[in-house]
Amino acid sequence: MNEAFVALPLPAGFGIEVDLGSGEVRRQVGPGAYEVDQFEVLAASYLQRSAARKLLARFRWAKDSGAEVPAYRVVRCGVGVIDQKKGVEIYRALQHKRAHFGGIVQCGSVWHCPVCSRKIAVRRRAELVIATNRATEDGGVCGLLTCTVPHAASESCGLVLERHQRLFTRLNSGKASKLFRDRFGVFGTVRALEFTKGLNGWHPHVHSLLFCDRPLLWEEVGNSLWTRWASAAKKEYKWDLPRLALDIRGGNAAGDYVGKWGMEYEVAGSFLKQARGDSLSAFGLLGKFTEGDKAAGEAWVEYATAVSKIGKTRIESARQLVWSRGLKARFNITDLTDEQIAEAQEEPAILLGSLTFDQWLKVLGQPFDARVVLLQIASVGNFDDVLFFCSKPPGTAREIT
Ligand SMILES: [Zn+2]
Repeated sequence: MNEAFVALPLPAGFGIEVDLGSGEVRRQVGPGAYEVDQFEVLAASYLQRSAARKLLARFRWAKDSGAEVPAYRVVRCGVGVIDQKKGVEIYRALQHKRAHFGGIVQCGSVWHCPVCSRKIAVRRRAELVIATNRATEDGGVCGLLTCTVPHAASESCGLVLERHQRLFTRLNSGKASKLFRDRFGVFGTVRALEFTKGLNGWHPHVHSLLFCDRPLLWEEVGNSLWTRWASAAKKEYKWDLPRLALDIRGGNAAGDYVGKWGMEYEVAGSFLKQARGDSLSAFGLLGKFTEGDKAAGEAWVEYATAVSKIGKTRIESARQLVWSRGLKARFNITDLTDEQIAEAQEEPAILLGSLTFDQWLKVLGQPFDARVVLLQIASVGNFDDVLFFCSKPPGTAREIT
């Protein structure tokens, strides 16, 4: 057990302890027992977001006025106040009783923010479930295609990603691609870009859901795709790929994949630090960094900057999930951007009260993440408990950057 944890001076029943060195927060639910549920997941994702903030704060952007601001939105996420006069609102959901903030910046960045990506993943997974269910109700079938490219430990994340994207674009464009869709009745696709890092370096890969209007022999579909994937690899990079580089499955594969999609975002590093075998997901790397692994932090920056480039006026990110044109409309799914999902209030909630801007600065100035503590207090206590905590912050203030 980590002995650096100290109990916060809170009214009885809250039982929140912090490690003032690492900033880790936990909730005691009995002697020596700690809550392993939403609170821990939330605390872990907040800790990881602070790590992302620390790692990306050095990338700056000069505005027209000459003022320099952080280039990556995650640096402001959960910190920046939208209207300083209004302060920060604290809501509690009517049904689930979990508290959340209002009036602060939500970055909506799926690649960089463990807090927003978790929220976005929940909605995106629901959309995928609707689409795969409706497709099968209509008599169609869904296949799960996985395409990979060779990679070595010495190759940068950006290089492997660029090669993969080039081949994937070739696979899905031109006359041959149209003939393929006509032959197998493919009326839509959703592709998901994912990253892991293992002993053999970066492994960006695409899983693509193929929506087809009739039952199919998947081996035939796979062979047809494989011919084009292998020939694109030969033409572009003179590679002789092994047949394993492309895989397509029918049956329950698409449903199983969709059911689990985004889980690594939802529990960002808390329980699933190890992604698969010895490879780590991007947020797994961030989790390692919060435990003091500096190399994991730099590897994460390599990924974060490879997946998004600083454009002239905004960050230009690779898209995580790409639905083919018209597919969402076909299944009556409203098209929301990641930012809209991040900003949306999840469920009906009551406003408990508001913190002034100065009170918020005090909360941010703690040597641990006092925001998650505040949310826990607001989830189970009342607004006086919140104010009590804000008036007697246990740590010494630090400078907010
Ligand atoms: Zn965010």
